[in-house]
Amino acid sequence: MEKAKNILTIRRLTWAVLVLAGLLTLTAIALVVSQWNRSRGPVVRPECETVVMVSAGDTLGKLLSDQGFSARDIDAIAKMLKKDAGVSTLRADNDKIEFIRATDDAPVTRMVFRPGPWRMVELTCDDTGAWHCQAHDIERDTRVVYRAGEIHDGDSFYVAGQRAGIPAGILAYVYDLLAFEMDFERDIRAGQRFSVMYEENYQDGAKVDNGNVIAVWFQALRGNVKMYRFRKSDGTIGYYDEDGNGAIKSLKRTPINNARVTSSFNLRRKHPVLGFTRAHKGVDFRASTGTPIPSAGAGRVVARGFNKGHGNYVKIRHNGSYETLYAHMSRFAKGVGVGTNVRQGQTIGYVGSTGMSTGPHLHYEIIKNGKHVNPMTVKLPAISNLGANDKERFLNYRHVVDDAIEQLADRPDMFIQL
Ligand SMILES: [Zn+2]
Repeated sequence: MEKAKNILTIRRLTWAVLVLAGLLTLTAIALVVSQWNRSRGPVVRPECETVVMVSAGDTLGKLLSDQGFSARDIDAIAKMLKKDAGVSTLRADNDKIEFIRATDDAPVTRMVFRPGPWRMVELTCDDTGAWHCQAHDIERDTRVVYRAGEIHDGDSFYVAGQRAGIPAGILAYVYDLLAFEMDFERDIRAGQRFSVMYEENYQDGAKVDNGNVIAVWFQALRGNVKMYRFRKSDGTIGYYDEDGNGAIKSLKRTPINNARVTSSFNLRRKHPVLGFTRAHKGVDFRASTGTPIPSAGAGRVVARGFNKGHGNYVKIRHNGSYETLYAHMSRFAKGVGVGTNVRQGQTIGYVGSTGMSTGPHLHYEIIKNGKHVNPMTVKLPAISNLGANDKERFLNYRHVVDDAIEQLADRPDMFIQL
């Protein structure tokens, strides 16, 4: 009995020592932490955070002035944001700014601004009252997924794509890529198969947005279309076919996505308004009045005016031998006049029914070396091709992508990291 009691006491003593040691360790850790925090400045103090969502009409100046910033600080911060973070405008309903101050009525000492889901700009005020700016990218976990689908009877590419689980934004992008090669109105048939490989961006295990389209494949009537996204050694990014030829053409066959062809190129057509045979030197796309008309390619506006047949029209000269013409516009885009340089996809005007027209549509012409050609069938030049070095790199990369596609095919739940 006595012995047992002793053992018990010894055990208690051991426990007491252990607990004491534990407490001492905790105290030591706490001391170290508080010491460390103290050396990092005012972070340990309770802070007040105000989050301001940018709404329409807000300017940086107004938002900062509301938070009590002086005109001098506002000016310094605006300059810093532009120079160090590339931020010059705020996006309403999208951007938010966090203002951090030590107490409710103290001045702001820190600001955090996110100009997009993957970028963070931090502005801090030092003891002398000077502001400093630091911009950094938020790390993303990029996963590459693969989706394949098939056109069913009566489907549009969009419907079939959504059934295959491809997000709308990616589909729109793919549509744009393929629009250089295909006529989505007449080249779509039941039984055609397609696939898309694209990126999904995750943060802390949750999907935030979609990334780039890595590869596209479409079983088209005129042969399979396959495109790979590739970064050249000079940093520029483009899409290339299997052999490394530029897949993006200098002109689009269908400037307006998803627009139905209502009248094709035909040099002996009976004119709907005039009633007699007259060449239709372009393609008509049905679209409602006011639909933006994008330039089919980069170039310079060489004519903008009105004539009885075309109504309001714009003519653009592209790379030397090509010109495009857009007719029946309801109005021209602001800032687009003769001599204006436009980029591919830039809005140059809006669909209408001016001139000799039976209803709102875009009449689109491609003129090659002064002669009208059929936009749907003309062989269009590629924007860029690869040099020998890049071509070799591309072919190696293409094999990697093809292998990945093989692994991912029929496994929609899988992803890889390229
Ligand atoms: Zn026409």
